[in-house]
Amino acid sequence: MIIFKCSKCGHEYKVADEYAGKKARCKNCENVNIIPAPATKPAQPARPVGSGDSVAAYNNLLQELLQQEKTAPTVEVETK
Ligand SMILES: [Zn+2]
Repeated sequence: MIIFKCSKCGHEYKVADEYAGKKARCKNCENVNIIPAPATKPAQPARPVGSGDSVAAYNNLLQELLQQEKTAPTVEVETK
């Protein structure tokens, strides 16, 4: 979300990030503004601290589950 103000009258607008760099005509005073790039960075960091360890642990768990599945007895089928 981009929040910018009209450079002429100060009317505040909120637009989606994808409109960055495009022109927006102010509904209030007809002034054409160039929509700025979003000022705020994404709240979530791309790589949280310790994520590598938890991913490895998760993979280990997954491998264990897969092995258990392989060694687990198959469903008994009546051959009558
Ligand atoms: Zn304006």
